[in-house]
Amino acid sequence: MTTPLIAGNWKMNGMLRSLTELKGIADAVKDGRTEGCEIVICPPATMLSASRGILHNVAKVGGQDCHSEAKGAHTGDIAAEMLKDVGASFVIVGHSERRADHAESDEIVKAKVNAAWRAGLVPILCIGETQGERDEGKTLDRLGEQLAGCVPSGARGDRLVVAYEPIWAIGTGRTPSSGEVAEAHAFIRKTLTDRFGRETGEAIRLLYGGSVNPGNALELLHIDNVDGALVGGASLKAADFIAICEHAA
Ligand code: 13P
Repeated sequence: MTTPLIAGNWKMNGMLRSLTELKGIADAVKDGRTEGCEIVICPPATMLSASRGILHNVAKVGGQDCHSEAKGAHTGDIAAEMLKDVGASFVIVGHSERRADHAESDEIVKAKVNAAWRAGLVPILCIGETQGERDEGKTLDRLGEQLAGCVPSGARGDRLVVAYEPIWAIGTGRTPSSGEVAEAHAFIRKTLTDRFGRETGEAIRLLYGGSVNPGNALELLHIDNVDGALVGGASLKAADFIAICEHAA
């Protein structure tokens, strides 16, 4: 059976003083409240090393982005190898905020997935439709396009996570219906299975992301083909994040 994965994406939030929240997460995990659930926190890069120190042996840490190259003249960027160097196990790639703020194309995102693999990190690849695409009935077309454009050949169940994040659900308090989530996840599963074979396609964990909170997590996490969640705002408070993890465990 697949181990559920709950990933916290802190985005551009958190100063070193926020590490107290991580202590709360570490304590809850040690108390066995999240048993059966894998946890990863993706803090700002400035906090990765300290976060790793607190969560060591309790939960994993991940980056929020990486450059496609291993090193070089790319001011302000961080290589996947550098994330690995400070103890990261995962890296989020292709988040819609990166695609929007930094004009990241599917091709760039695909190169980042390859970079994560090169460095020995598991990429959490984000895909999802805009409100306009959903209104026009183009959600599955968009997901298919993004999967074709962003997932390189050579995917394996233990080295790829795909997060379905409808852009209109991020930070809005709105979520798709259970049926809509089920439809999107079944489509993603089938697309991966058709391309990589049944064993691999079924082993790749599919996360739902977008306004997940302690109140809706139970329902969302029990939809077919939902193997976990990518949590933004509600991952910033230990109590909320742990409550979500408890629903997955
Ligand atoms: P929210 O949970 O704040 O909606 O953010 C979701 C997200 O973008 C996680 O990557």
